[in-house]
Amino acid sequence: MGTEHDHHHDHHSHDDHDHSEPPADVALRVKALETLLTRRGYVAAEALDAVVDMFETKVGPRNGARVVARAWTDPAYRQRLLETPTAAIAEFGFINRQGEHMRVVENTPQVHNVVVCTLCSCYPWPVLGLPPVWYKSSAYRSRVVIEPRAVLAEFGLLLPNDVEVRVWDSTAELRYMVLPERPIGTEGMPEDALTSLVTRDSMIGTGVAHAPGQASTR
Ligand code: FE
Repeated sequence: MGTEHDHHHDHHSHDDHDHSEPPADVALRVKALETLLTRRGYVAAEALDAVVDMFETKVGPRNGARVVARAWTDPAYRQRLLETPTAAIAEFGFINRQGEHMRVVENTPQVHNVVVCTLCSCYPWPVLGLPPVWYKSSAYRSRVVIEPRAVLAEFGLLLPNDVEVRVWDSTAELRYMVLPERPIGTEGMPEDALTSLVTRDSMIGTGVAHAPGQASTR
């Protein structure tokens, strides 16, 4: 925690861009508190890491997975999600405290969507939780725009040439989430079971939803 702050983009000079990370002084104070608490033995560093991991891999992405599974099983909800995404997501009680708007982009057999924030790491927190470290890396942010197919291949996602890849650049005001394709062989599967097939990466677009029986790790 507190080691991968990459929100100093002095080369950008986009001062009007409201970055999603806390200001540098807040990050410093958090780091100071963490150090103090750990040194005094009040908390274990591993316990803090476990909390961060929980938000990165469990709490956040599970919210998004519920949204996706509902869209797969309820055509009216899917339509609301695509047309009025901020409100449709709020139906679950996942409210955006920062007030930015959501846009949901739908994968189809012809189009694969992938999300990035080229400036920093704007990310749909209410549905996906904390961004993974690679999402904030300058390599991902710069390369996915220029050579999306190559980057996706490195994630193990090999797309046929006739599939169009669309890259969406998030900002503080507008954040994207991918609605992945429903895996084949899931006809009749209940909504609850479907959520376990929806991975975090499938909602960023660097992955696809798992097939039934496939282990879901990210
Ligand atoms: Fe950003």
